[in-house]
Amino acid sequence: MKEIFLCKCGEIVLKGANHSFFENALIKELKFRLRSYGSFKVSHSQSTVYVEPTSEVDLDAVFDALTRVFGIVTIERAAVAEKDIDKIKETIREYIPRFLADKKTFKVEAKRADKRFPLKSPEIAAESGGAVLSACPFLRVNVKAPEVVVRVEVRETAAYISAGSFKGAGGMPVGTNGKGLLLLSGGIDSPVAGYMMAKRGVKIDAVHFESFPYTSERAKEKVLELAKLVTRYSGSMLVHVVSLTKIQEELVKNCDEEYFTLLLRRYMMAIAEKIAEKNDCLALITGESVGQVASQTMQAIAVTNATVNMPVFRPCIGMDKEEIVQIARKIDTFETSIQPYEDCCTVFTPRHPKTKPELPKVIEQEKKLDFDALVAEAVETKTEVYIPADV
Ligand code: ATP
Ligand code: MG
Repeated sequence: MKEIFLCKCGEIVLKGANHSFFENALIKELKFRLRSYGSFKVSHSQSTVYVEPTSEVDLDAVFDALTRVFGIVTIERAAVAEKDIDKIKETIREYIPRFLADKKTFKVEAKRADKRFPLKSPEIAAESGGAVLSACPFLRVNVKAPEVVVRVEVRETAAYISAGSFKGAGGMPVGTNGKGLLLLSGGIDSPVAGYMMAKRGVKIDAVHFESFPYTSERAKEKVLELAKLVTRYSGSMLVHVVSLTKIQEELVKNCDEEYFTLLLRRYMMAIAEKIAEKNDCLALITGESVGQVASQTMQAIAVTNATVNMPVFRPCIGMDKEEIVQIARKIDTFETSIQPYEDCCTVFTPRHPKTKPELPKVIEQEKKLDFDALVAEAVETKTEVYIPADV
């Protein structure tokens, strides 16, 4: 039996005159994502995108891929039937029971998009309901609050039959809201932050700071693995890898220990802003959450933020660790994030970091080094790793 997927677009249909821009972006993204699974016809009509396999495909794998595409609110798997009421009923009896085994009540909703079809919607619904009951006699019809809605949609070329819908990734198609630069560490929070902004339609590039040889090659590989996992949602990603070794060594030699982390974070933000500007990124994205560590008190965030002009998005800012972990598990980054490798923030950590820093005092420390020159050198010597989308 032939199956297709009906993907309902949520928020993007609310965008008035712009909705075709969003729909086209979604269709383009879908075509790109599905390439490696076989060939498909992707079309849309009235806030639904139809994904129709035109070659042999692994339907479960395709379904799984679709659940990671932003811009889709619900996904229905539907069987395709010939436009003949007996064929429709036959398909219902054959296809629908697998979705209803654990259900008690249902109703049928019929839609007749092809007005030439001889039966009207209520007649299609009645006939279809009879077919459901004959295949699943344990069910009862409940029009007001059914556990599952069996949909029969008669369209131009065929009839589509589905039972229930699955949750899609939500959000907006990636790339419809510009590009941002994610500060990606090996931790739990920053991959989640990247995922959350990608969900809002923001295309993601990343910058990772390393401190070789204080941080290892393996630590960097772990970060690239995390980037790869995020691309399953966000699409391809360019990762800029910046060495902070010289800056950290200079900080240790010249500045007060209690300011190391704050100063380092100001360098990170300044370097990230330079890279963002050169790569058409309109905002920086971090995984910070208020109060989580010494460098994330309100005062410390104010100090690190003060070095940049670009907006800094911190989608995890009001979340508890547990909530962030929940998303990390959902997007499959958690197990990689908790692998114990060093991060540049964890080498040369002050024993007593300033938790309530004052900006003038931080700047006084910062002036002991040539900030702009060190930033420029770090940007010039960075390397780039392109991560193709892991669909
Ligand atoms: P995470 O779990 O995301 O590493 P964290 O709780 O360890 O966060 P910090 O180490 O203070 O917190 O880092 C705060 C944010 O700064 C991170 O979420 C990330 O966006 C950025 N960051 C920290 N270290 C790096 C790094 N080595 N490279 C790039 N960005 C970093
Ligand atoms: Mg970290």
